[in-house]
Amino acid sequence: MSRTPWVYAPAHAWADTVELCPDEARHLVTVLRLRPGAMVTLFDGAGRSGPFVLAQTTKKRVLLRAHAAPTLHPRPQGLILAAAWTKGGRRGFLVEKAVELGIQDIWLWQARFSQGNIPEDGPAVWLRQAVAAAKQCRSPWLPGLRAFASLAALLAAAAATARRFVLWEKAPASAGIRLADLAAPCVVAVGPEGGLDDEEVAAFIQHGWHPRSLGSRILRAETAGVYVAALAHYQTEQSPPSQDAQEES
Ligand code: SAM
Repeated sequence: MSRTPWVYAPAHAWADTVELCPDEARHLVTVLRLRPGAMVTLFDGAGRSGPFVLAQTTKKRVLLRAHAAPTLHPRPQGLILAAAWTKGGRRGFLVEKAVELGIQDIWLWQARFSQGNIPEDGPAVWLRQAVAAAKQCRSPWLPGLRAFASLAALLAAAAATARRFVLWEKAPASAGIRLADLAAPCVVAVGPEGGLDDEEVAAFIQHGWHPRSLGSRILRAETAGVYVAALAHYQTEQSPPSQDAQEES
């Protein structure tokens, strides 16, 4: 595995010469102290990565030049994690771990017992957290990030996803989550720290979602999310057929 630094530039910024955004530029020049001629791996968060050379560094501009053709990586597992809005620290932790575990999409939704409201600029903040996590685990993919101002909006967005589950702390032990539940395409909802309202659970069920239990212990919301993400990751690691197929062809 290459140990060159990983640097992010969104797909629309990609060209033979790429100018980095201020955050990425500062990280390369001030934190990593790279100088012209250094090699980096650029990724676009949409499955593309490639070797670039640091061509120019000034206080205001950092330019990278393509060194070889990029590689296109297959999209990771199709698990959508729909987490109810929670406090910042917990949410950041969940976004970071979900990226490391290869979640396809992270959806945040406003639940009745959510603490606070989803801000307008939320996705920009989560994008920064997701980019940091993707660099850490060298993932060329970032999850799709979406926010829903109501449960109704979440239910509508998920209607076309074949398999829909809601983690419910009051679900009977007989409704324990199974690995087979998490085969893609699949969406799993997690409630907020205050738990799910009975009316919310009824709405999930009415829209074809199945309640699932994670056992007798009541877990923190972010622990429940990471639990499911890790199960899905395990399942994918046991049978990663599409990735092998694309690399060989
Ligand atoms: N306030 C609730 C209570 O005391 O019963 C607990 C809510 S829990 C901290 C936050 C969310 O994590 C839940 O709404 C659920 O989605 C998920 N969760 C936590 N433990 C769970 C379990 N054992 N089974 C299923 N879901 C669980």
